[in-house]
Amino acid sequence: MRPTFSCLRCGATWRPLTDVGPIRCGVCRSPYWDIEPLKARKKVTAKAKSLKEAVKMVKISSKDLAGIVGVNRTYVSSILNGKRHPTQRLAMDIANVLEVEFDSVFRMV
Ligand SMILES: [Zn+2]
Repeated sequence: MRPTFSCLRCGATWRPLTDVGPIRCGVCRSPYWDIEPLKARKKVTAKAKSLKEAVKMVKISSKDLAGIVGVNRTYVSSILNGKRHPTQRLAMDIANVLEVEFDSVFRMV
C-alpha cells in the first residue's frame, strides 16, 4: 500500500497512482497541495488604536472604507476593533486606502 497524502489546499486525502511523489493534488489538482495557502500561514490583527487613528487622519467613514475595499461595513468595524482577522490581502488594501504602512496598523500573528 502506498501512503496517502493530504492536500493543504482543499483538505482532501488521496492515494497516488504511482510511486513517484505527487506533483498535483489528486482531487483539486493544485500543484501547491503541499504548501499552505497564504492566508492560512499567518493571521492579521489590527493594532486597533493605530488603525482607528489612521482612519481618523484620512477622514473616512468605516462605511466608505468598506465600500472601497469591497467588504461590508460590519466586517470593517470588527477589523477596526481588532475583533476579526482580515486576510493579508484585505489588510494590505486597507493600509493602502489609509496611506499608511502595513506594519503601522496591522500585525502578523
Ligand atoms: Zn487539493
